[in-house]
Amino acid sequence: IFDIHIVGGGLAGSEAAWQLAEAGLRVRLSEMRGGGEMTPAHETDRLAEMVCSNSFRSDDAEHNAVGLLHQEMRALGSLIMRAGDLHRVPAGSALAVDREAFAAEVTRTIEQHPNITVVRERVDILPHHPTIIATGPLTGSRLAEAITEETGQGALSFFDAIAPIVHRDSIDMEVAWMAARWDKGGKDYINCPLDKQQYDDFVAALNAGEKTEFKDWEKDTPYFEGCMPIEVMAERGIETLRYGPMKGVGLDNPRTGRWPYAVVQLRQDNALGTLWNMVGFQTKLKHAEQVRIFRTIPGLESAEFARLGGIHRNSFINSPRLLDGELRLKSKPNIRFAGQITGCEGYVESAAVGILAARFAAAELRGETLPPPPVETALGALLGHITGGADAETFQPMNVNFGLMPPIPGRTKKADRKKMYTDRARSAFAEWRNSVRSAELA
Ligand code: FAD
Repeated sequence: IFDIHIVGGGLAGSEAAWQLAEAGLRVRLSEMRGGGEMTPAHETDRLAEMVCSNSFRSDDAEHNAVGLLHQEMRALGSLIMRAGDLHRVPAGSALAVDREAFAAEVTRTIEQHPNITVVRERVDILPHHPTIIATGPLTGSRLAEAITEETGQGALSFFDAIAPIVHRDSIDMEVAWMAARWDKGGKDYINCPLDKQQYDDFVAALNAGEKTEFKDWEKDTPYFEGCMPIEVMAERGIETLRYGPMKGVGLDNPRTGRWPYAVVQLRQDNALGTLWNMVGFQTKLKHAEQVRIFRTIPGLESAEFARLGGIHRNSFINSPRLLDGELRLKSKPNIRFAGQITGCEGYVESAAVGILAARFAAAELRGETLPPPPVETALGALLGHITGGADAETFQPMNVNFGLMPPIPGRTKKADRKKMYTDRARSAFAEWRNSVRSAELA
């Protein structure tokens, strides 16, 4: 007998189970590892196993959005943060953890909770009772098919071709300009012009840049021409990019009155207009190489990246289209989603969305409604991105960052801006907590 079913005992599912159990609800947590199943990336049957790095990234809540998210999660009694803090290892201002001790801690705490029953089983269907699906980027294939069938969207498992995303206020608009090709459809793109020498140097840098390899288990996932890395195009010949994503035709540069030899276009990526993605720039270049090489593009010399490019196997749903503001599947509202499958990215963000899904579900099961956290907070910004702020057409997984929050009004010194975001977030978070009288937030 249980009140709610959670499928997937990773970062998000473990956090959600804990939050619901602490709210007095009875939870069934189904985890397929330990029940004769494994994913290609996990190595143990522990709950909340960290599959790659052992870092929760920056713990600086004054100047960093993920540090701020840590702080908000701690305030909401996060198990993932508590276990992380307990098993912290030295890493400067970052929160890195002893991954084995961390996962063992989470597993023990969940298994010993009187309100949680952990069942080592694979779930292949979307249940009819209240459920949170938190099966992560490597969701079991039958369940992935069931989700695809219910949502009518394309296959869940595919290569996630991520183009880098740049903070709008770090682009030099004295060099770049706004226009659409052939002046069609308004001035929707930011255009960064390259002359012949700059273009030739850029292609040479791409060819020489250090790349990451595909993992073995990624090699049999279908790979689309549409997400070909720019460095692969560059390798095909010096002109390939200039006839592809870097085509300059139809774009009058107002400073020269001519088309540029080549161009890099950026397209608005969020409703606030604070984040812009580099069109067609998915890449397997190493992150440091991306920063170095992309800052040679005129107009992007001081670019700050909200996300760098990548191509890896992933499963996530088109949340802005499929989920409501409380992470419920619109077509089947007994189902909520949490974790990376919603299109957030990273251990911390996945657990954070686990908290939100659990808190919304707990309120609903008690006949109450939980107002969402304001978009000025880290939790609210992440939720806003997933459930509506992002463009459904180009929706891609995203780490939390200040670009998901409304800009700070007025002119501000760049050096002060991060602190202004976190100060504003803290007061919005406190106000939200005070305004929510529900026991869910106590
Ligand atoms: P997971 O932690 O993956 O948990 C999902 C759980 O659901 C798993 O335990 C799985 O066994 C279970 N499950 C799946 N299908 C079923 C089913 N049908 N029935 C029952 N159980 C099921 N993020 C970072 O922050 N840093 C990194 O370095 C990093 N590296 C990564 C490397 C790889 C190869 C991959 C694939 C991802 C990486 N990520 C990284 C992203 C990482 O997966 C997420 O940040 C995080 O683990 C997502 O949490 P989650 O709870 O959504 O999914």
